[in-house]
Amino acid sequence: MKLAQRLQDVKQRILDQTVIAKRSAGTISLLAVSKKHPVAKIDEAYQCGQKDFGENYLQEALEKIEALKYKDLVWHFIGPIQSNKTRAISEHFDWVHTVDRLKIAQRLSDQRPQNFDPINVCIQVNIDDEASKSGILKNEALTLARAISDLPNIKLRGLMAIPKAINEGDDASFRQMHDLFEHLAGLNEFPDWDTLSMGMSADLEQAIANGANIVRIGTDIFGPRN
Ligand SMILES: *Cc1c(COP(=O)(O)O)cnc(C)c1O
Repeated sequence: MKLAQRLQDVKQRILDQTVIAKRSAGTISLLAVSKKHPVAKIDEAYQCGQKDFGENYLQEALEKIEALKYKDLVWHFIGPIQSNKTRAISEHFDWVHTVDRLKIAQRLSDQRPQNFDPINVCIQVNIDDEASKSGILKNEALTLARAISDLPNIKLRGLMAIPKAINEGDDASFRQMHDLFEHLAGLNEFPDWDTLSMGMSADLEQAIANGANIVRIGTDIFGPRN
């Protein structure tokens, strides 16, 4: 199948689930996860109107950003972050979804180039407390959010998670993320708090049913990765 068709199919799934979940039209944005796929495919998706792209590996991402720098793409970093990578991330990305400690946020803020807008940040929550995944625990979210929201060159947008695979329709982890997101929103301490980043190819429906407003889709747009 052609990439244009796959992209269209994903958008249709998002629309369908928006209706089923009784969400407002146009409140869920699609982040195309292009890791391990070549620049040509990103460009193809861009020609179809896709602007937001997610990458996990810094070196690979920097090459793609350079190759596409004259186009108005929006780049999201969605991989684990080591502190020696923060400068390049802060200089080249518009969003970071995977901040899970204050030191990383401080460095992103300090290293943001002066003439740039603040970098958009989500805090990654390890909602199922899985050893294989990054992120803070649920009960650490408020403290970290408060510390990050004090930083000058960061716009704290919300939360990100990779909930564990759906087990016989059980979407409890997605629901817990939604509750946490709404709880922090309700405190009215974070003026830019508007983003719940969750949902991948296999579980975008469950994510949208539980309040996600950025879904991160790779395989169902670009095909399998090597
Ligand atoms: C790879 C990746 C995705 C996309 O996953 P697919 O199953 O290919 O849709 C989304 N989020 C993160 C954090 C990823 O690493």
